Order: sequence, then C-alpha cells, then structure tokens
Amino acid sequence: MQQFRKLTLWLYQRIALILVLLLCIGTGVALSGTFELSADLVDAQALQHARVSVHTVKEAWFLYSQAVVDRLGNLENVTASPEYHQITGGIPVPATYTIELGERVSQAESGLSFRLFSNYPFPNRQGSGGPQNIFEQKALQYLQQNPTGFYYQKSEEQDHLLFRYAEAVQMEPSCVKCHNTWPGSPKTDWQVGDVRGVLEIAQPIDAFVSQAQDGLKSIWITLIVIGCLALTSLILVISYLQNSNQILQAKVAEKTSALNRLAHLDSLTELANRRCFDQVLEQEWRRMERQQQPLALMMCDVDYFKRFNDAYGHQAGDRCLQRIARAINANVRRTGDLATRYGGEEFAVIMPNTDHRQACLVAEKVQRAMLELQIEHYHSDVANHVTLSIGIASTIPQPIYHPTNLVRVADTALYEAKVKGRNQIIAKLPEKVESQST
Ligand code: GH3
Ligand code: MG
Ligand code: MG
Repeated sequence: MQQFRKLTLWLYQRIALILVLLLCIGTGVALSGTFELSADLVDAQALQHARVSVHTVKEAWFLYSQAVVDRLGNLENVTASPEYHQITGGIPVPATYTIELGERVSQAESGLSFRLFSNYPFPNRQGSGGPQNIFEQKALQYLQQNPTGFYYQKSEEQDHLLFRYAEAVQMEPSCVKCHNTWPGSPKTDWQVGDVRGVLEIAQPIDAFVSQAQDGLKSIWITLIVIGCLALTSLILVISYLQNSNQILQAKVAEKTSALNRLAHLDSLTELANRRCFDQVLEQEWRRMERQQQPLALMMCDVDYFKRFNDAYGHQAGDRCLQRIARAINANVRRTGDLATRYGGEEFAVIMPNTDHRQACLVAEKVQRAMLELQIEHYHSDVANHVTLSIGIASTIPQPIYHPTNLVRVADTALYEAKVKGRNQIIAKLPEKVESQST
C-alpha cells in the first residue's frame, strides 16, 4: 500500500511528462496506423480492380465461345482455329480470341497487361504461351491446386510498383470435346473443371500509391497540427494547474501559519498566549539544560486590578492590559526573549541566557515604563497610577528539575512581592532567595 502510494505520488509529480509522452505515443500510433491503413487500401483497390478486369475478360471469352463459336462453328464454310488468319472463313477459337483481346487491351504506355498462359499452349504459341516468369510458374502451380482461388503479388519492376493478379480458367463442358478432338491440340484428355490456363493481369499501382501518399500526407499534417495544438493546450493547462497549485499551496501555508499564530496569540494583548508559554518554556528549558546556561522567568501581576475594573470599567481594564502588554514587550527585545499573557492580569516573560541579575534589570525597565505610562488608578493603595508586582526566578536547568519548578519559584517571588506591599520586584534562585525593592 505504501509502495503504491509512493508510486502514485511519483507519477503525479511527473504528470506533465507522462501526459506529453502519452500524447506523443498516441500520435505515433495514429500515424503508423494511417500508414498501414493506406497500404491496405492500395492493395484492396488494386485487387478489386484486377478482379473486375479479369472477370470482364473471362465473361467476354465465354460469351464469344457460346454466342459465336458454338453457333457458327457448325457452319460448313466457317472454321474456328488458332490460325484463323490463314484460313478463309476462319474465326478465332475462344482462347485465341481472349489472347488477342488481352493484347489489344494491354497498354504499353500505362504498363497494364493481360496474358493468358497455360502448361499446354497451342502449337502456334509454343514460345509465349507457357509461364514466362517465376510469378506465372507459382500462380499456375497454386491455381492448379486451388482452381477457384486467386493468386497475386506486389513487386518492384523497373522503378514501378507492379501488382500481378492471376485466376484459373477451368475447362467448360462446351470446350472439352473440341479440345480433345482438335488435331493440333497439345492435350487430348481434358475433363470438365480441369485448369486449362491462367488469366493474368499486371498493373502498375504507382498512381494508387502516390494518391494514397498524398492523402496520407494531408492526414499526417492534420494529425501533427492537432498533436501540436493538443500538446500546447496540455502544457498551458498543466502550467496553469501547477501555478494555481503553487498559489494554493502558498495560500494554505499562509493561512496555516496565520492559524498557528492565532493559536499561539492572545487576542486582547497580541502577546503569546498561555499555550505558547508552556511550549516555549519547555523548549528553552531543554535548550538551556543542554547549553548549561541560565534561564530566567519573570511573572508580572497588575496591582489592585479588580478595583481598577470596578472604578473605570471593564473596557478601560482591557485597554489598560493592552498598554501594559506593549510596555512589557517593548522592554524584552533580546533574541529568544518571549513576553506572554500568562492569564487574567498576569504576564510572564521567558528569558533564555539570562541570569537573575540581568532579569532584574529587565524588570526594572518594565517598572520604569509603567511609571512613564502613568495609567491613572486612584483606587490603588500603592500609587495613583497602575503598578506591577514582579516575581523573578532564574536557574541553570538541571535534568532532575522540571520547568514547572521555575514557574513555582517565580510565583512564590511574585506572591512575596504582593505581601511585601506590591509595586516591587522579588528575585529568587531555586536554592536561595534574593529580594530587591524599588
Ligand atoms: P492584587 O493586587 O492582589 O493582584 O489584586 P487584584 O485585584 O489585581 O487581583 P484579583 O485577582 O483580586 O483581581 C484580578 C482582576 O483582574 C479580576 C478580573 O476582573 C481582572 N481581569 C482579569 N482578566 C481581565 C481581562 O481580560 N480584562 C479585564 N478588564 N479585567 C480582567
Ligand atoms: Mg492576579
Ligand atoms: Mg493583580
């Protein structure tokens, strides 16, 4: 399952490349498909043409045999003979008629030719009447085995692509007697259905091929244009999607970090909240423990704040907390220092790499800032303005202690500051207590 997910991810990351590859393969397959189709079409067209031509010649032969020779052959002054030219009243026998028809139809300039050949040519055709080449030999051999079939071949001859086609001519009942009794007949034991010869047509198919190639060219150009358009659209769509994806990812990251910030921020004061305080204290404790450097914690509590709220209202109380937060934050600007709202009207500042003396200096700065703020508070017992009580704890973290120890000590120091009259700073080490009043 894991492997499948990895594979899916791998494929997804390379989706653009894969789609382009698929498109190229598809176009390649389409191109070669049309090439094969056009070759098949040329063959089919040539075959059809040859069959129709041979059929026509055969029909002319049989028609001549039945309508002319059979009817005139019995007349006394009419003689059917292969050498009819030399005889007065001579007419050609059907085979001679067909041979001569073939010779007339054959066109030297177009390369089209008809031929009737046989293993038993008449005596006047002994030289040209038999098979003249390998194709004719093979055709004769094949058609003697398969008299109702056909035999064809495509070959290159003198820069021409030639399509040769051959069909058997079988002995008809009306011809058997004549062929077996005629004095010059080369074979006298003919039977109906015997293959007496082969009718062959040879035609150049260059014109078909070039016509098909022209068609093919326009199909290929169209396919290539479509392929290029599809490729361009694909690239555009993919880059658009990738762009949108990047924008989306950036937005999600932005929102996530905003959410994270919100999850760690106190909405009133915009300082880090209690959750963030807990996490950072833990982290800094471990870090200072590794580095064996001091970690200081400063807890600040607003003096007589309940009275402030009672006297000036809750909204004024909120604004007061916001101003105090800004004042504290402005005075803890060292890298790693973190001012937080610990809860209610209490603030906590985490200060790594800070011993209790340095922490006290920060606390004094905060107290001075409060003095400068002069937020009116006539109901306080310690001053006419809002003041803070501050407890400080600082230690070099040891593995046997937990950061909550530091919180407890800082809290104890803060409590002591309250008890001793408020508006003052008490600093404590975990082992020994130090105090300082303002
Ligand atoms: P002490 O000097 O002993 O700290 O007295 P205190 O009145 O400050 O302490 P106490 O715990 O009695 O009262 C704290 C008050 O702080 C009570 C509560 O209404 C107020 N407070 C806590 N959070 C908020 C806040 O978000 N906004 C406002 N306006 N007041 C708050
Ligand atoms: Mg309090
Ligand atoms: Mg208070």
